[in-house]
Amino acid sequence: MDEIIISGLKVFAWHGVYEEEQEKGQNFIVNARLRVDTYAAGNSDSLEDSVDYGKVCLFINDFMRINRYNLIETVANNLARKILVRFPITQSIEIEVMKPEAPIPLPLENVSVKVERSWHRTYIAAGSNMGDSEELIHNAMENLDADENCRVLRSSKMYRSKAYGGVEQDDFYNNVFCMDTLYSPIELLSRLQAEEKEAGRERLIKWGPRTLDLDIIYYDDLVLERDHLRIPHVDMCSRDFVLLPLSEIAPYKRHPILGMTTLELLGRIKESYVLTMKEEDDE
Ligand code: ATP
Ligand code: CA
Ligand code: CA
Repeated sequence: MDEIIISGLKVFAWHGVYEEEQEKGQNFIVNARLRVDTYAAGNSDSLEDSVDYGKVCLFINDFMRINRYNLIETVANNLARKILVRFPITQSIEIEVMKPEAPIPLPLENVSVKVERSWHRTYIAAGSNMGDSEELIHNAMENLDADENCRVLRSSKMYRSKAYGGVEQDDFYNNVFCMDTLYSPIELLSRLQAEEKEAGRERLIKWGPRTLDLDIIYYDDLVLERDHLRIPHVDMCSRDFVLLPLSEIAPYKRHPILGMTTLELLGRIKESYVLTMKEEDDE
């Protein structure tokens, strides 16, 4: 991908853990590498199709002077995310914040922190069989989209399906939506859990009735195996109420471990849970 590179931008600001740094301030130097698709701008020669690096420089300057952080790690992390939000055609960014005048009683040329941040494409499966299920799912998508670190891009239709896992309970409403996010996988899990909590979710019995369930199906092509988070979702391949809505919005996306497309995975389903698809719900 093409890059826009800003190097050696000098900003006077007040970040640091020491009182002296917070009172007197010091010079920081910022380097930034923005990955953008410059084909459109290359053809149109119009700034609207690109990122205005003058504006990016001013934005960095303002951000660093208005905010005050103890750590340059925080400066770099927050600055990187804000630039991705503020200049939306930027896909990813590398930011280095240098502190050449750091108060260390030793000869030192420079100290710096470099972070890389980018938008990640995720697929989230939603389910509900308590309360006003459709409304709860739509609300959750709206709340997530209103979070500047998330952009909901498209959603499947709403499906009705019978409960999975053997507990006798009402039928479910299910959908799958595609969302770009700046959150790490763990941050995303807690963001989704906050949304479930907001919808009144209580964990009483495994696979029991719930107002809202939000599961991470895919996060880019990441494979993650942690105690509390496994991506891709471990049981997605036996659930047609996940694969069928997913096949609407990502039919050819391949499972990063199995190498099979959504349609191929759907073809292997033995037991069906989906009852109907709601035609009218096509936003
Ligand atoms: P299932 O995960 O089989 O659909 P569930 O959704 O009913 O079951 P929950 O009670 O919602 O289960 O979640 C149990 C735990 O699953 C969560 O606390 C979370 O830590 C963990 N988990 C692991 N992988 C994922 C994932 N990909 N998405 C969401 N939660 C996950
Ligand atoms: Ca689930
Ligand atoms: Ca869940």
